[in-house]
Amino acid sequence: MSGRRFLSIGECMVELSQAGDGLLRKGFAGDTFNTAWYARACLGPDWSVDYFTALGDDTMSDEMVAFIDKSGIGTSLIRRIRGRTPGLYMISLKNGERSFSYWRDSSAARSLAADPDRLREAVEGADLVYFSGITLAILPQEDATTLLAEIRRAKAAGKLVVFDPNIRPRLWSSYDVMHATISEGARSSVLVMPSFDDEAAHFGDDSIEATIQRYRALGAANVVVKNGADGVRLNFAGDETFVPAEKVETVVDTTSAGDSFNGAFLARYLETQDAPAAARFAAGVAARVVSEHGALVAKEKLGLSGR
Ligand code: ADP
Repeated sequence: MSGRRFLSIGECMVELSQAGDGLLRKGFAGDTFNTAWYARACLGPDWSVDYFTALGDDTMSDEMVAFIDKSGIGTSLIRRIRGRTPGLYMISLKNGERSFSYWRDSSAARSLAADPDRLREAVEGADLVYFSGITLAILPQEDATTLLAEIRRAKAAGKLVVFDPNIRPRLWSSYDVMHATISEGARSSVLVMPSFDDEAAHFGDDSIEATIQRYRALGAANVVVKNGADGVRLNFAGDETFVPAEKVETVVDTTSAGDSFNGAFLARYLETQDAPAAARFAAGVAARVVSEHGALVAKEKLGLSGR
């Protein structure tokens, strides 16, 4: 066993969703955690998957650590901060439309990069480093600068650094800060995995090609642009391929479609170095995910055997 490590950096939150009769169901989710979950489900045993975040010392933080651990994801790098608590969000359903409320302004995860030695040690111990625009958005600006410096060191050291811009304007203090920081995230990465609808809406791209060229011009050698039911376009070191989405009978819940695609893609790419094949595999996993409720679909339901 070579003992290689996939490190995902970001915020996992407590999720409350409606369970009928006014009852709420508690879960745990968050973009970078969801991707770690799907990577874990799809990677073989010679890879460990670790989650890097910060949590508090309350019962809910303990429960989240226990949940992450039970998912087969390493928790030893998680920083625990006295007196702090995790972020929380609630999913409301009205006339079939989902809406989200967040309580994350003072979540412990906002301090995930405030201990630079710990961050450096975690990144140095990883073969793949995954982070997102949400990871950057929740950090105080000087901590985002610290994180990006570590990410650049990882890229310079030849690690596979992967970034999903996951553009969420409400998390940013201004458009200019968002644009500059996300661009810096992409510049510091080897592979960028954006969703076209976000890039078109917030960065004004008028085509998938425009998204690919913008990120490649920033210095990301490889780009995978996700476009929902219209599939993905990959550009790996200039070689371009289109991979269609799989047909889905009934789309039940698109939560974490992109996160699951990323996790499954990276798992298969790490093992085969074949990006188009990894995208076909990930399209199959994401198709299962949008056919089920919730962000985290159990491994048994992902149809992994035979893929
Ligand atoms: P995000 O969740 O980041 O917006 P996308 O909507 O582009 O990401 O979806 C990511 C992947 O999930 C797609 O590339 C595709 O493989 C799959 N997917 C999403 N929506 C559908 C759908 N309606 N039918 C089939 N596959 C889908």
